[in-house]
Amino acid sequence: MSGVGNVKLIGDDGKRIDGRALNELRPIKMEAGVLKRAEGSCYLEWGGNKVIAAVYGPREAQPRHSQKVDRAIVQCRYNMAPFSVDERKRPGPDRRSIELSKVIGHAFENVILLDKYPKSSIDIFIEVLQADAGTRCAGLTAASVALADAGIPMRSLVAACAAGRINGKVCLDLCKEEDNYGDADLPIGVAARTGEIVLMQMDGDLSGEEFDEAFKLAIEGCAKVNEIQRQALMNRYRSEPQPMAAEGNGGVC
Ligand code: ADP
Repeated sequence: MSGVGNVKLIGDDGKRIDGRALNELRPIKMEAGVLKRAEGSCYLEWGGNKVIAAVYGPREAQPRHSQKVDRAIVQCRYNMAPFSVDERKRPGPDRRSIELSKVIGHAFENVILLDKYPKSSIDIFIEVLQADAGTRCAGLTAASVALADAGIPMRSLVAACAAGRINGKVCLDLCKEEDNYGDADLPIGVAARTGEIVLMQMDGDLSGEEFDEAFKLAIEGCAKVNEIQRQALMNRYRSEPQPMAAEGNGGVC
């Protein structure tokens, strides 16, 4: 988010550089249960983002000193592949990925019924294969479907979406150019069933009014994303009935 205000990102016809309206999401495709060896998984394409999420557990938390006697812990790793961006990214964790792993893990601590699994760990892996802005929202959204696919009991699915400001206008779901040259970005994660905000960050500047507008737009985006999540889970269990996992999914949407 450079805040370079003079790059024209909205055409005279009111459309954005990729032809979208201001309140339009990029195309989203989601598939649950794509990995044989993970307890739960999800592959997500969101605009130019390609993300895979895998969930393992609940399993005994290791190292043992990390165990909590009364609940499970959530361990999340967000990772961007070296080939996911234009210039090769140095492999391994950096400050950004450590921060994102932490905030995404915390978001799920709010919805997973952790007290059902004392001394356990629920491990979430988010691998960004191709990045095009909005990967934290894509990762959070995919991980939520992977958790449901793993049958982890949750109070709600978490859907995420960002809104921001480009050329002085509030709009939904910034793509890479908009993220680079726009004025602000406001990613939000919502527990879809309860409406609770479980992640909110902001990059750039918004006035109070713009913040309210962007917040409302992002929430509307989350509702659309949640519909696609529900559809992905329904497709999964329609094609391959799995009574145990289906039971774990009860009422999380
Ligand atoms: P998000 O992906 O959630 O929008 P950022 O705002 O930090 O997170 O990043 C925006 C975009 O910038 C990413 O989606 C990615 O396309 C690009 N990006 C992030 N980190 C790097 C990096 N280390 N090298 C190259 N591009 C990056």
